[in-house]
Amino acid sequence: MMFNQYLIKNYHFCPRCKEQLQKQDTHLLCPSCNLKIYNNPSLAVALIAFNKKGEVLLNKRKIPPSPGSWDTVGGFVDVGETVEQAIKREFNEETQAKCEIVRYWGSYPDIYGLEKSPTINLFFEVKILSGKLIASDDAAELCFFPLDQLPKKMAFANTQVFLDLLIKQEKAKNDLH
Ligand SMILES: [Zn+2]
Repeated sequence: MMFNQYLIKNYHFCPRCKEQLQKQDTHLLCPSCNLKIYNNPSLAVALIAFNKKGEVLLNKRKIPPSPGSWDTVGGFVDVGETVEQAIKREFNEETQAKCEIVRYWGSYPDIYGLEKSPTINLFFEVKILSGKLIASDDAAELCFFPLDQLPKKMAFANTQVFLDLLIKQEKAKNDLH
């Protein structure tokens, strides 16, 4: 298993008792109070919505990391929340509209922010159910882009990987027809 460099780099001492942490196979361990800090990524949802023309909804980030660059609507799953709840909440926070899940597309690991903390990003297609799209929360602007005219640089590498895959799929579909 790949050990999380983020943990090695950033966690040296026990946050509870200040003893030096020891590296184990799957976690960091405090030899004094037994606190374990696990080698897990943060879970995030990335939401893809299309308009009638088949253009994909993106939001321009208002806050760091990468403010001003384009991103999918979405965000981190809160503790105690289901992925389904996180999807509805994040979509509503950033667009003020309601959505429903159409399908799960796949997951892509990435790193987040200056600290390079690990994430796992679940990509879902969603359908906009109701409400006018109004950029809110950490979205500065919302815009639908044709798949062949996407912004050059996305905020996160995993978004680029996913969109490239989506474009390839669409192209293959069109070539068949
Ligand atoms: Zn400790």
